[in-house]
Amino acid sequence: MNQNREIPYKIYLEESEMPKQWYNVRADMKNKPAPLLNPATHEPMTAEELSVVFCEDLVKQELDNDNAYIDIPQEILDFYKMYRPSPLVRAYCLEKQLDTPAKIYYKFEGNNTSGSHKLNSAIAQAYYAKKQGLKGVTTETGAGQWGTALSMACAYLGLDCKVYMVKCSYEQKPFRREVMRTYGAAVTPSPSDTTEIGRKILAEHPGTTGSLGCAISEAVEVATHTQGYRYVLGSVLNQVLLHQSIIGLETKTALDKYGIVPDIIIGCAGGGSNLGGLISPFMGEKLRGEKDYRFIAVEPASCPSFTRGKFAYDFCDTGMVTPLQKMYTLGSGFIPSANHAGGLRYHGMSSILSQLYHDGMMEAVSVEQTSVFAAAEQFARVEGILPAPESSHAIRVAIDEALKCKETGEEKTIVFGLTGTGYFDMVAYEKYNNGEMMDYIPTDKELEAGFAGIPRFEGNEF
Ligand SMILES: *Cc1c(COP(=O)(O)O)cnc(C)c1O
Repeated sequence: MNQNREIPYKIYLEESEMPKQWYNVRADMKNKPAPLLNPATHEPMTAEELSVVFCEDLVKQELDNDNAYIDIPQEILDFYKMYRPSPLVRAYCLEKQLDTPAKIYYKFEGNNTSGSHKLNSAIAQAYYAKKQGLKGVTTETGAGQWGTALSMACAYLGLDCKVYMVKCSYEQKPFRREVMRTYGAAVTPSPSDTTEIGRKILAEHPGTTGSLGCAISEAVEVATHTQGYRYVLGSVLNQVLLHQSIIGLETKTALDKYGIVPDIIIGCAGGGSNLGGLISPFMGEKLRGEKDYRFIAVEPASCPSFTRGKFAYDFCDTGMVTPLQKMYTLGSGFIPSANHAGGLRYHGMSSILSQLYHDGMMEAVSVEQTSVFAAAEQFARVEGILPAPESSHAIRVAIDEALKCKETGEEKTIVFGLTGTGYFDMVAYEKYNNGEMMDYIPTDKELEAGFAGIPRFEGNEF
């Protein structure tokens, strides 16, 4: 720690400073996230039941509420070294432009072909599948970043990869699809007629352009009906937050090197994995009573799970085939408006973050799409990175907090997660530039329709 050292634009870590263990924030939570429930019996899912869907090692991680540190296998560390440590950037140029006394830092996760943080968990999940001797994995992808990340990981390890891609993205983002196929994945638009649940959804909603919830149902069905396959998920699950803790651990090491203590840590929240990963080690300190930080989750006003959802047990998918998870949810039948924050359109939220939010350990805000793109362009023009629309939700709130500091004269230190790049999102940028982008905020009545689909049973009052 050296407080007098001048802080460079980019704080890089040496390879030797990279974390060798993931940090499991559940170990420090007094109120543990509620267990997954079997939807038929409402009893906690056993490891055995979960092993039908997920690989064995990942089931262990999913259920592990006690071990604070879990070793990262050497093979995964070696893969991480290809694109990590990721830089922690001091946004000097943005600070200057905002004329704020705030000090702004962002952790940039877009330095790999998948263009986002999702590769951190994709390689871990593919590794454990391979270790178990499986033939392949199935998954869903919305905007395409997760599918791309998983395709890359599977290609590297020689695993088969079947991706169910939300139909509107499949059609709107042909280049994402081609990247996945380049890495050898089989990509199917969802809902499709290749699964029982897909055929059912198509019959009930002809012409539907799909949702993440539908694609999850299809991918789970294929995994559980195909010998040698398991299902993997790119967000929401405890194991994914665990893998993403690499983001927060690196951030903390980098900040500690320069004696920097953040006041506010901000991240966008779709299913909660990047935010959970970024804040985990800091949240651990807060939970242990060692330090205090403000944590802010930023979600789109069009899909406001935290700020307007219910804290209840709900299905993770539209087809209601997954276990029940206790989380902030808009209802598994909620289909958000065709909104460009592709990766933030999920109806639910990580149960770890849901519990922490419920316990008042973190805050959440929702922001409208046009203000998000305004922040994205402001950032792109001075910081030299074209941000993903999802990441730009965090940029919006980081800028807002920095502007508050300008008013009060406070020199707060703000850290936010810049989860990825927006090169495949130019149709959304085009809409914004043409002044054709709309803000959409669901009415209470529309939300009620989603809540009506949340299962009601004893112990699930909301
Ligand atoms: C998927 C994605 C997100 C949202 O997912 P979380 O699990 O909430 O982190 C955010 N940013 C980018 C670039 C993504 O690809």
